[in-house]
Amino acid sequence: DAAVAAERLMDVMTAEFDVQGRSLNNSCSLGISIFPEHGADGETLIKNADAAMYSAKTYGRNNFQFFTSDMNAQVMERLTLENSLRLALAKKELFLVYQPQMDIASGRITGLEALLRWQHSELGLVPPNKFIRIAENSGLIAPIGEWVLRTACAQARKWQDEGLPAVTVAVNVSAVQFRQENFCEFVRRVLHETGLAEQYLELELTESLLLSSADLTLSLLRKLKSTGVMLSIDDFGTGYSSFGYLRQFQVNKLKIDRTFIRDVAVNPDDAAVTAAIISMAKSLRLKVIAEGVEHEAQMSFLRKNHCDEIQGYYFSKPLAVDEVADKLRGTAMHALSANHGA
Ligand code: C2E
Ligand code: MG
Ligand code: MG
Repeated sequence: DAAVAAERLMDVMTAEFDVQGRSLNNSCSLGISIFPEHGADGETLIKNADAAMYSAKTYGRNNFQFFTSDMNAQVMERLTLENSLRLALAKKELFLVYQPQMDIASGRITGLEALLRWQHSELGLVPPNKFIRIAENSGLIAPIGEWVLRTACAQARKWQDEGLPAVTVAVNVSAVQFRQENFCEFVRRVLHETGLAEQYLELELTESLLLSSADLTLSLLRKLKSTGVMLSIDDFGTGYSSFGYLRQFQVNKLKIDRTFIRDVAVNPDDAAVTAAIISMAKSLRLKVIAEGVEHEAQMSFLRKNHCDEIQGYYFSKPLAVDEVADKLRGTAMHALSANHGA
């Protein structure tokens, strides 16, 4: 009965609303707890329904979930993490690692993706997929995202000042940050303050972020683009893109999601999707990079299909900040001598 009621509620909530002549769409996530199995009093029932709702949200929204007891454990974990994440910046527990991106044709490093790490005093290293969403849901992504952008830009400038080959630094931007008022001005300010030239900053946006409200997105993208920074679509292929928008979005680069790359050398379906993305990118004159390349077999498939760049353990794991200089110097030398050899 509760499920039937939930479905009816969802139907009503997800219908188009007409607000002052504009049609708006809502998504809706529902959590359900049942008396007396999930609680003897109102407070407990609501708390547990709330936990179920969070679970529904993590299942991609627009669905409902019944409460289960292991959700309680998840809620506790989320609260604990959220509380310590609040202090993480001040305690300097956050740091960045940098994963090189390699141009397949020349073997040179073209860019470095900044990836956030959290060294928690008791829990050890907490992976980003455990805390980014918590940061987004609690609003903490704003100060953390600011810190990431500033740190990455300052570091990139520092490497250039040390005379290392100039490469772009790619920074992941979450939907919440992207929609923040003045995000564009903020990016400009950080570039100005750190002294990094705009063409050396690349912002990685995800497909779902771009499509969540395409009209607003278009104007935001134009503004960002006018600052001169590079834009790429991260995890490409996992969401659903509109080809029409893809052209209008004016991004520079597609990053093929690593779920396609994993079996690209053995699974004909993954090979077909990957080849199609590469050739579509070429037709649209976009750069294309494959994520999560681990083996030679994947590499040779990508080379054969004229993918521009790769990122993955095959070339390099994400590096600590003091390991980057050597890698930058090393491949520059290597590419130089390879060219001389030819
Ligand atoms: P992403 O942006 O798609 O980053 C690529 C992820 O793939 C990274 O995971 C990287 O360590 C991993 N990876 C790279 N090469 C390989 C490989 O060859 N094999 C495999 N199996 N994995 C590989 P990581 O660092 O755990 O980051 C996970 C996600 O967290 C990122 O996915 C990104 O969406 C998010 N993230 C990381 N840092 C930030 C940040 O500063 N801000 C925001 N908003 N999100 C971030
Ligand atoms: Mg990324
Ligand atoms: Mg990705």
